[in-house]
Amino acid sequence: MNPENEWVERARDLAKRFAPRAQAHDREGSFPFENFAELREAGFYGLTVPRAFGGAEAGLGTYLAVLEELARADGSTALAFMMHLKTFGQEREAPSYPPAWFERLCRGAVERGELVNTVATEEGLGSPSGGGVPDTFAVREGDGWVLRGRKTFTTLAPVLHAFIVLARLEGEIGPGGRPMVGNFLVFRGEEGLRVEETWDSLGMRATGSHDVVLDGVRLPADRLLNAREAGSPDPRAGAGMAWFALGLCAVTIGVASAARDYAVAFARERVPNSQRPIREFPGVRTRVARIELLLQRSRALTRDACGAWERRETAGMPPIDRVAAAKVETLNACIEAVDLAMRVVGGVSLQRSRPLERYWRDVRAPLHNPPLEDRALEQLARRALDDAFEAPKGAE
Ligand SMILES: Cc1cc2nc3c(=O)[nH]c(=O)nc-3n(C[C@H](O)[C@H](O)[C@H](O)COP(=O)(O)OP(=O)(O)OC[C@H]3O[C@@H](n4cnc5c(N)ncnc54)[C@H](O)[C@@H]3O)c2cc1C
Repeated sequence: MNPENEWVERARDLAKRFAPRAQAHDREGSFPFENFAELREAGFYGLTVPRAFGGAEAGLGTYLAVLEELARADGSTALAFMMHLKTFGQEREAPSYPPAWFERLCRGAVERGELVNTVATEEGLGSPSGGGVPDTFAVREGDGWVLRGRKTFTTLAPVLHAFIVLARLEGEIGPGGRPMVGNFLVFRGEEGLRVEETWDSLGMRATGSHDVVLDGVRLPADRLLNAREAGSPDPRAGAGMAWFALGLCAVTIGVASAARDYAVAFARERVPNSQRPIREFPGVRTRVARIELLLQRSRALTRDACGAWERRETAGMPPIDRVAAAKVETLNACIEAVDLAMRVVGGVSLQRSRPLERYWRDVRAPLHNPPLEDRALEQLARRALDDAFEAPKGAE
């Protein structure tokens, strides 16, 4: 078997173990520590890490296929794990961190089971992809930095080892007259860093996306991984968007596929008292067919964007626009597919003892991850109407 496909098979096996745990974690909003222990044990922490540092250096397509398998079982585990995996994919393609720190993150993942994620969003800032200025400050002190602020939506917070924190560099103004911002590497256990367990959301409840407080965290100078003027393009340019946005597509396709499978199995079995099997009703048949169309469209668009990105396609719609198109279309199609699955199953789809209502909540969460729909549409409109393109301002 192609070694890349082996990863997908292994993800499918793990997913069988994750599926029965998903309901309880969703109900309690608890973090699936055991899923992550098993992902680590099976070698997945290094899936996207370069071979030079002991990883599997899986391509974008394998990464997406693995996420889809995991999301069929548990959307939260897939989304949370995506945040770790995408870090290496993005940096492989568009290096922005000092090489020694990147190697340290890579070896940490492979050899010590250390997880990494970006800690960018804040209550006041909203999505950093808008190019706003964070309220988290980094102040120069002696030879290093001191960080103060509060971050929201820090996925994987219960298990993160490396927090890549976006902060404003106090007193530093860029050539365009806007404040400078930078990404700092902070390790779990460093004085002044704490996680506050605030995550209690409608969907993706088991992602542990809590607040992180930086209360005077002192860092040596070399922990500043990169810096740029607020509002200027992210140095990872499109690579950040491709690995992030297509990862979200894979996760939503996985969740919607699980809803499709449940609804189809239900429709095949269900025979209300003294009636015909519900699969014979035209409304049920049309809805199931429509779910098939929506999933097929989502897969096709995501594969097209992935292939175009990997081949650096020059004909037709530019790869980065295909990524934006796939994100908008896939998310909306998958939300509609899960809604239709609920209608096929009928009233019992609302019961919390069944997984459909969880799929319905989980499938909409990635709407609120970048690229946000309005920005993705503006990207397409700008290219069509103004012959212009503006590189993404940030991945989270
Ligand atoms: C499950 C989940 C996990 C997450 N994990 C992480 C993580 O690990 N790390 C992290 O840093 N963040 C994370 N986030 C945060 C996420 O990336 C966003 O920053 C967050 O959801 C805020 O986005 P927002 O759309 O509400 O922001 P806002 O910028 O406040 O936007 C609010 C609304 O205004 C619209 N809007 C704002 N600006 C513009 C504009 N210029 N043009 C057009 N429309 C605009 C938006 O589309 C949206 O409708 C996560 C979010 C979720 C839901």
